[in-house]
Amino acid sequence: MYRLSEEETLIQKTVRDFATRELGPLVAEAECSGRFPREQILPRMASLGLLSICVPPELGGVGGSTLMLCIVAEEVARMSGGFAIGAMASVVAPSALVKLSGGKVAAPVLDSLVQGMVMPAMAFTEPGAGSDLMAIRTKVTKTDRGLVLDGSKAFISNGPTADVYLVAAVRAEVIDAPREERTKGLGVYVVPRGLDGFTIGKPLHKLGMRSSETGELHFDSVVLPAGPSLGSTRSDGDKKSGMRAMMDLLDYNRLYIAALSIGIAQAAFEASLEYVKQRRAFDKPIGHHQATGFKVARMAVKLDAARALVQRGCELYDAGVRCAREVAEAKLYATEAAVEITGEAVQIHGAYGYSQEFPVERYFRDAKVGTIWEGTSEIQQQIICRELGLYD
Ligand SMILES: Cc1cc2nc3c(=O)[nH]c(=O)nc-3n(C[C@H](O)[C@H](O)[C@H](O)COP(=O)(O)OP(=O)(O)OC[C@H]3O[C@@H](n4cnc5c(N)ncnc54)[C@H](O)[C@@H]3O)c2cc1C
Repeated sequence: MYRLSEEETLIQKTVRDFATRELGPLVAEAECSGRFPREQILPRMASLGLLSICVPPELGGVGGSTLMLCIVAEEVARMSGGFAIGAMASVVAPSALVKLSGGKVAAPVLDSLVQGMVMPAMAFTEPGAGSDLMAIRTKVTKTDRGLVLDGSKAFISNGPTADVYLVAAVRAEVIDAPREERTKGLGVYVVPRGLDGFTIGKPLHKLGMRSSETGELHFDSVVLPAGPSLGSTRSDGDKKSGMRAMMDLLDYNRLYIAALSIGIAQAAFEASLEYVKQRRAFDKPIGHHQATGFKVARMAVKLDAARALVQRGCELYDAGVRCAREVAEAKLYATEAAVEITGEAVQIHGAYGYSQEFPVERYFRDAKVGTIWEGTSEIQQQIICRELGLYD
């Protein structure tokens, strides 16, 4: 259980009601079509204030805490993991842009995002670089025409349909430099859809998260609109390397992903709890067979533990405390717990669990990506080892 403030409790109730009433009826069609129904989801989320959480009120946001973002992730994912990932960039990007730009993000860009009229995507991964972000080859070159972007991105959520992309790239002059130097040349660039030389690849067919679109992006001598790269300078005047800024952003995203996984697992838990009470075998409800009842008990414990880790990560992140280890622990534990819980949910439902008659097969398919994206489980463990001083 989270320990929620009054404001956080209100957000939780608002999103749960919205998800049940408005998102639930959209799930089946979106799973079949493989399309995120952004027109029906994003403007409504904006009207509920869910796209401007953590954006300061003086910039037109509702303010609030990182835990509130996580509550949105969890409650939307409880209905549909695909919707939670389709909405992720819209929920996270406005406040991330404010952070990365040190509060200097252009008002029209921010307004269009928080109103849900423009859908963003976050493009870090490349065909040849996922876990090792320092190995990305997408580059920006300073020319007389302005900054020019070249390269490709892969596996980008909302890639096929977004309006604006936050693209990680390296400055051309350090692209072949040693790692240390390359990290200083990393930055995040705002790239609108439709620029000359910017093409979108085919959507990817996936195991799960089918109501969110994923795809490739190609940049061939794309001249970027004027404006500074994000993540190289902060408003307080402190220079911050692009890599450091990207890592901060990843911590933020990882907390969202951890909470998203909890939402999927919560749905699987609720379905299982209900099922073990009504399904009978050997003259009693299957929940009365200890082997089955214990599975549900362990689901409850894992959910509580995962939420406690997420809450701790959020509190430290908001306090500005270094929390790479705590965030990695939350991401690792919550995403792996979701895989275990959804797997047990299928087992508890027997043959029905394996069929599309019940939603647990979808929860099972959707949960798996949690241990892969935003840093795999192995990378989270590597971070924990590093923070424990194992590599000093
Ligand atoms: C559905 C989906 C949506 C996605 N959406 C986005 C998005 O919106 N934006 C974005 O930028 N990316 C996105 N991604 C990409 C995702 O973040 C990457 O897939 C992830 O970071 C892993 O990178 P990789 O797939 O290249 O794996 P690799 O880096 O090739 O890793 C392969 C395997 O090697 C292991 N490995 C690698 N290095 C180490 C090491 N040092 N120690 C131990 N093991 C290691 C990994 O853990 C993994 O098991 C998405 C991916 C998926 C599947």
